[in-house]
Amino acid sequence: MLAGRMMDYPLTLTHFLDRARTYHARCEIVTQNPDRTLARATYADLHRRASKLAHALARLGVRAGDRVATLCWNHARHLELYLGVPALGAVVHTLNLRLHPNELSYIASHAEDKVIVVDRSLLPLFRKFAPQVRCIQRVLVIGDDGPVDGDGLDYEALLAPEPDDFDFPRLDERSAAMICYTSGTTGNPKGVVYSHRSIVLHTLVSCMHDALGFRESDVVLPVVPMFHAMAWGLPYAAVATGARIVLPGPHLDPASLLDLMARERVTFAAGVPTIWLGILALLDEHPKRWDLSSLRSTVIGGAAAPPSLIDGFLSRHGIEVTHAWGMTETNPLGTVARLRSSLGLDPAASLAARASQGFPVPLVDQRHVGPDDRPLPWDGESMGELEVRGPWVASSYLGGEGEDRFTKDGWFKTGDVVTIDAAGYMRITDRAKDVIKSGGEWISSVALENALMSHPAVLEAAVFAARHPIWGERPLAAVVLRQGKTVSKDELHAHLEPRFAKYWLPEDYLFLERIPRTSTGKFLKSKLREQFGDLLEKKASG
Ligand code: AMP
Repeated sequence: MLAGRMMDYPLTLTHFLDRARTYHARCEIVTQNPDRTLARATYADLHRRASKLAHALARLGVRAGDRVATLCWNHARHLELYLGVPALGAVVHTLNLRLHPNELSYIASHAEDKVIVVDRSLLPLFRKFAPQVRCIQRVLVIGDDGPVDGDGLDYEALLAPEPDDFDFPRLDERSAAMICYTSGTTGNPKGVVYSHRSIVLHTLVSCMHDALGFRESDVVLPVVPMFHAMAWGLPYAAVATGARIVLPGPHLDPASLLDLMARERVTFAAGVPTIWLGILALLDEHPKRWDLSSLRSTVIGGAAAPPSLIDGFLSRHGIEVTHAWGMTETNPLGTVARLRSSLGLDPAASLAARASQGFPVPLVDQRHVGPDDRPLPWDGESMGELEVRGPWVASSYLGGEGEDRFTKDGWFKTGDVVTIDAAGYMRITDRAKDVIKSGGEWISSVALENALMSHPAVLEAAVFAARHPIWGERPLAAVVLRQGKTVSKDELHAHLEPRFAKYWLPEDYLFLERIPRTSTGKFLKSKLREQFGDLLEKKASG
């Protein structure tokens, strides 16, 4: 063993918080309030307020490891909770405000939340599940208008008298900093516990140029909510790099987002495909209304971004789109669809690579396995379940649940069914639970959806399995049309025919007003199966 050693310097979020004050004190945090006015604070304020928060929580009896829940939109106070709670040694637990009250009561009880911080506008939701949650001892209410009822405390009044500086403890980098619950559509949600170390490493890698690529001169707009999958780590990445951050509050419709991007000269925005489909449709309608010349990067993830979306932004509006894949269990960034100069791809192959889920960022490994759990070849064709591992990939769930998602040799089973090609590009063909199996063969619903969404009349398409008396299952397509457009079933069929084997073509097309979604904006195919799963059987029986 050589005698020299490196320092044992803990990888904790406290470093980012201190750094923001020391080097980026004047950097702005912009919040869009519910009344659409803009509030401006700085990273110096962030440190000051995180310190006050730490004092206030300590005074309320919050100790290392205690859970502090948030039920909040994206705003500056949520950001100070993201930093202040972990720096104190406690654990911030973001509750997804789109969930059903029953799920929220389950999750808050399961995580044993001790304190909850709630936006005033979300108090009606909180009151629906509060009576079922026994562990919560304190309710802090954010928002200026009106008194706080019951034994709730006004967040501002609580922080006001506290000192501006806190002697933050030196923490073990492996201690818990945050908990998010999976938005699993089957079974109970499961808690994923992130450590300081996992978040710091995730932040460093996501800032790499070939990952999400943040820099100090950026103006970052996390459209992705801070109550889901840590807003993809964007709040921490912005603070770590000293980038300006713009938080949209509750206004997430396309026009409000475009107004905000143009007004604040946003350079980097990230959200799920639904958001971007809406934005693209509006931009196509009014290409000159917004000045988006500052926007240099948009990241789309959380669900498959159709190639037509990626191409539409670039070819019609000159806006670069980066497609990324991740999960609550992976902090969440896992893969990014970057082009590699060494591959020398032609334009069609380039678009195909950029519309894939990409290849892993450094420190994440991938493989896909068949039904016998053996790794499959990277031939771009073999479909199997994706497994990943890395320092920010969960190795267990809170309370040891869901053990079957972790392999004996140290991989996490994602539940995504994928192909991987020779260059390592991974493509999701389905969620394991949404897979369509027709006559013993798998059909990729994602490939069909992407093809349908490339039709000019189609805004959104979800393809799902319907039971069939002969084939077991057949694909059905649920389609939402663009405003003012029409298209017939035959036309859609003709659009798909040249691209797919015959047995892949949907058995029928349903024209819907909207496609049911999960709390995080993904197509809820279980609902479609529930509503329309017996359609073909009914037809067959006449
Ligand atoms: P969540 O934990 O709620 O973020 O959900 C994670 C799941 O979302 C993944 O397992 C995928 O099924 C899906 N997902 C995330 N990103 C993508 C993407 N870029 N393309 C397709 N599916 C995605």
